[in-house]
Amino acid sequence: MDGIVYGLWGQDNNEDLVLCRLDHETVDIHCHGGMAAVERILKDLQTQGCDIQSWQDFARKIEPALEVELQETLTAATTFRAAEILLRQSQGLLRAAFTALMPDEKSDFDPEEFQTRIQELLRWEHLGLHLTTPWRVVLAGRPNVGKSSLINAILGYDRSIVFDEAGTTRDVLTATTAIEGWPFQFSDTAGIRGEAAPLEAAGIQRAEQVLNAADCCVILIDTSQPAQADDQRLLSQWSDSIVVAHKIDLPLRWDSPLPEQAIPVSSKTKTGLEILLNQLVQRLIPEIPDEQTAIPVTKRQSELLHQAEEALQRADRQTYSELIRQLLFQD
Ligand code: GDP
Repeated sequence: MDGIVYGLWGQDNNEDLVLCRLDHETVDIHCHGGMAAVERILKDLQTQGCDIQSWQDFARKIEPALEVELQETLTAATTFRAAEILLRQSQGLLRAAFTALMPDEKSDFDPEEFQTRIQELLRWEHLGLHLTTPWRVVLAGRPNVGKSSLINAILGYDRSIVFDEAGTTRDVLTATTAIEGWPFQFSDTAGIRGEAAPLEAAGIQRAEQVLNAADCCVILIDTSQPAQADDQRLLSQWSDSIVVAHKIDLPLRWDSPLPEQAIPVSSKTKTGLEILLNQLVQRLIPEIPDEQTAIPVTKRQSELLHQAEEALQRADRQTYSELIRQLLFQD
């Protein structure tokens, strides 16, 4: 009985399904979206003696592990732009680049040649990893400088940003969005103050941790107020940050020299937002790979590439070849 049939699953609360028999051993079951329907069907099948496998385990039986690894990254892509790059890697680009790192048994070993190829790949390692994990941008500044207002303005809608995790307003808040097709996560730290009340100390410590772990830090200063010691402290402590001179729709009351690179922004009127976002993209993605560029896209891949590079520096051909074999998942 080949072809497609429509039917109902179960005795009570029937589930509509479409069944496609692909061959004698393979049947595709298509049910409604959402996890509940899928879980119910899988549970029933398991009760009937079926073995349940992850799609990765199933895919590994019919495809090489490298391709499955790349498909896995594709499922984690959150923007079309990231998915497009990952798709190209999974369609042979990365396999070809990794294969080209394998020394030819018959010819002489030229570490320099492989070194150049590895460096070319590692040039893109940060971009590659951020295709599945957003670039983290942290906004810092005194309480009321307008951090959450700026995040809301960037997100383009006017509502309170969501909590990262259950907790109090002292927790770090995060929101994820796409800018020019790249995934970005913005965090709004609890206000950082020098002389914190003990209750706030934990929140401030956490904020400092987040700042240290960020890909880029944006410091906000409220130029409708005179400069304060905490503003200066932040500016000097994270001196390579992007600086936003905020609330420029209000009269200027800032009474010390403004940092040279400060971008004038108003979250209220949206002035300067585009310049700020352009600068963020410029800073974090200074170079865009062309369509033929092979990019390592997982931690496993970049770690093996780094180890392979070290083996090359020692001219250790055996270890190097073994690492490239691992990269390709070859025994
Ligand atoms: P946070 O504590 O740093 O997160 O600051 P908020 O985003 O809660 O903003 C503090 C206050 O400043 C609120 O009353 C906002 O409405 C106001 N505010 C924020 N951004 C601007 C702005 O660009 N212009 C003006 N005039 N007010 C702003």
